[in-house]
Amino acid sequence: MRGRIRRVNGSLVIAENLPGARIGDVVHIGELKLIGEVVRIIGEEVALQCYEDTSGLKPGEPVVNTGNPMVAELGPGLIGEIFDGLERSELRLWNLTGPFIKRGYTIPSLDREKRWHFEPRVRVGEKVEEGDILGAVQETSVIEHRILAPIGVRGAVKEIHEGEFTIEEPIAYIEKPDGRVVEVKMLQLWPVRTPRPYKLRLPLIHPLFTGQRVIDTFFPVAKGGAAAVPGGFGTGKTILLHQIAKWSDADLIIYVGCGERGNEMADVITHFPLLEDPRTGKKLIERAIFIANVSNLPVFAREASIYYGITIAEYFRDQGYDVAIMVDSTSRWAEALRDISGRLEEIPAEEGYPAYLAERIAELYERAGRVLTLGRESRVGSVTIMGAVSPPGGDFSEPVTSITLRFVGALWALDAELAFRRHFPAINWLRSFSRYIDVLEAFWSKYDPEWASLRDRALSILEEAEKVEEIARVIGEKALPDDQRLILIASEIIREGFLIQNAFHDVDTYCPPEKQVKMLRLMLKFYELTEPLIKKGVPVEEIRRLRSIVPLLRLKERREIEEIEIVEREIVEEIKELTRRYAGGG
Ligand code: ADP
Repeated sequence: MRGRIRRVNGSLVIAENLPGARIGDVVHIGELKLIGEVVRIIGEEVALQCYEDTSGLKPGEPVVNTGNPMVAELGPGLIGEIFDGLERSELRLWNLTGPFIKRGYTIPSLDREKRWHFEPRVRVGEKVEEGDILGAVQETSVIEHRILAPIGVRGAVKEIHEGEFTIEEPIAYIEKPDGRVVEVKMLQLWPVRTPRPYKLRLPLIHPLFTGQRVIDTFFPVAKGGAAAVPGGFGTGKTILLHQIAKWSDADLIIYVGCGERGNEMADVITHFPLLEDPRTGKKLIERAIFIANVSNLPVFAREASIYYGITIAEYFRDQGYDVAIMVDSTSRWAEALRDISGRLEEIPAEEGYPAYLAERIAELYERAGRVLTLGRESRVGSVTIMGAVSPPGGDFSEPVTSITLRFVGALWALDAELAFRRHFPAINWLRSFSRYIDVLEAFWSKYDPEWASLRDRALSILEEAEKVEEIARVIGEKALPDDQRLILIASEIIREGFLIQNAFHDVDTYCPPEKQVKMLRLMLKFYELTEPLIKKGVPVEEIRRLRSIVPLLRLKERREIEEIEIVEREIVEEIKELTRRYAGGG
């Protein structure tokens, strides 16, 4: 199990004399015991991907194979933590080694000393199965951490205790059918590259409701689904992810920041935990976990960080929670794959990315889902993945973006031009999509049975307006026929009054579903009522001058839903009057 370094090529280390090494084994490299993973074996030579800075590493230094795959530590202590890409607590590491985390420094992910109050949920003598809830710890004031019978463990409970325990002390003993007694602790391990098992995959039927109109109404993501968010610097990506973290109806938020610029990451880490949680009135950190390389870990730790994040998400899914995981950005992760592939001298595919890029991206998004968990009384839990991508120059045909779009159900295309015009959230309604419309119709039809058709009509007005604008750019708006100019007014109302949503406005920051459909319905009604007027010869300027347009645009800032009906009456009245005037000969 102990070999030697033969060569070092950046983050790729070639070792020899490591008999028995398997792909995915975790190794300790060099005198500093840097953390790495076996990525390829050719005869005598074993290629290692090193997750820490390799400078100063020399041929001849020892390599030790742990014989274990990379595992995540799961148990109480996860919530509110900020981990680095190798699930080391940044907070505790910082205390130990100062701001520059020393290389090769290992500390356990979860605190070994802290005691948690464990409360049993099963009795002595009860027969339990893998995945059953044995008991729970109230980890924060909002999240109950459920301790599950580990995978592979079933039998009769011989002993179980209420009390204060560290995660390494046994809380229960289970007698297996073969008579062997297994000790169960709160700390459990799981190999990060292996999806956690469940009983059944369930159809997606609920939206991950975010309170953000352009997402929920136009491009919704289902709980258990996946969305991609391409967007460059300054397009409002951080605010959008914050809004989803704060307002979406997920129970738990996991944020994986993989290798965006360090200062950007530091910004996220310093602000995110302090966000108020409107659902609980507490801090968001009570139901959030961060994995981010704010320290000096090299790019390769990005590769691992995504898998740690997803594994932790699945672990809480198995407890019966709806988990939302945000990965920012998967492009940086793909670049890490490209780099290691290049050093391995693999035959590159498109733009230097390895041929297996698509497979890796698919595997990642396949870990999203809504499932029936293991256990006698199985629970329903879900993992929703939102992956940011950073297409260079906004070009969606580049490999990472184009492959990602094959495997996600929704796309929120952030647009630099919209951001420049301060249209936020800068989600481009022509380039974005959602494949969840059909499955979410049942949810929305509780609020309005015609939801899907309202949505279609609104989108077609927006599309039509785009074409009209194109023509207007050539001939000028005044030269357009009035019916086309009305389209522009209708689309402006939808854009200003519906799509634009101010994250910093007390009321506008969150829009409930009922309000979303009622607002949209009224905006479409405005168009339906005014369109016939144009046919009757009413000049479009008269329509643009209608006083009720202003309150229509302001509805988003009104707390009371009844306001929508008041504005509706105003609109109807005003249009009636206009009709009368023109019927009477103008
Ligand atoms: P990025 O993370 O893409 O670089 P940010 O999320 O930091 O961009 O957004 C940049 C700026 O855009 C913010 O400081 C804010 O002023 C504005 N902004 C973004 N989204 C919104 C929004 N929904 N409402 C109001 N302002 C927004």
